[in-house]
Amino acid sequence: MKIDISPAVEALSLTHEICYNTQEEQDSTYTLLDNSSHRSSESRGNCRFTRGFMNGYIIHTHPNTSKAYPSSEDILSTVRHSGVNISFIVTTIGVWELSYKDAFYIDSKQNRAIMKKINDSVSRPLYDAGIKRKLTKTVPKGINLDKLLDLIEEYKSNVISTLKKYNINNFVINFKHMSDIPDPSDYTVQASSVSPKSPLEKEKLYSPLLEKELKKTKKKKRTRRKQKRSRKKRKQKRSRRKLR
Ligand SMILES: [Zn+2]
Repeated sequence: MKIDISPAVEALSLTHEICYNTQEEQDSTYTLLDNSSHRSSESRGNCRFTRGFMNGYIIHTHPNTSKAYPSSEDILSTVRHSGVNISFIVTTIGVWELSYKDAFYIDSKQNRAIMKKINDSVSRPLYDAGIKRKLTKTVPKGINLDKLLDLIEEYKSNVISTLKKYNINNFVINFKHMSDIPDPSDYTVQASSVSPKSPLEKEKLYSPLLEKELKKTKKKKRTRRKQKRSRKKRKQKRSRRKLR
C-alpha cells in the first residue's frame, strides 16, 4: 500500500494539526483529502474523525508545535473505533502507523487508567530525550539516530504491553524515521500495519449467525446431559429395587 503523504509533511510547519482522509486512486495508490474542517475545535486544533467521513485510512499531523509521537488519545481512539484500519501520524521525526482491526469497548475508568500509564511512564523517555514541542530536527539534540530508534522500539513494546494488560491484543504500532522516507509522495505503508487479520476471519468471528449456532449446540448438549442423568437415576432405582 502506497500513499502520497507529501501534503502532510509540508503541513508540519503550520502551527496546528491537519487531518486527512485518504482516497484510493486508479493505480491503487492513495492520496490525501484535507479533512480539517472536521476538527473538534479550531483553537485546540485536534483532529476528531467523524464516522462517515473516513475510509479507514486516516492521517493527521503533529506539527513542530506538538510532540512528535502519538498521544494516548491517538492510540485509544484507534482501538475504540471500528472504522479505523490504520491511523497515520506524520511528525517531525517520522511517520507513525497505528492499527487495530477490531473495535474494542473500553469503559471510561479503563480509558483513564491506560491514558495515565501511557502519558506518565510509557511516553516519558521520548519526552525526556527531547521529542517535545518546538522540535524542528528529525533527531533531537544530544542523542544520535541509533539511540532515538532504540528509545522508539522500547516505547512501542511498552505501548503494546500496556494494552495487553487490558486484554487489548493485536495492536500494531510502527514507525518509520524521516531518513527512511526519501520520497514522501511515494510512501510505502509497513506490511505489518496493513492486515493483522483478514476481513473474512473477522466476519466469521463476529457473525451473528455463528453465535446462534453456538447457542443451539450448547442447548443440545444441555438436553443430552439431562437425558443421561435421568437414565442414570432410573437405573439406580432399578438396582435398588433388585437389592430389596
Ligand atoms: Zn495526534
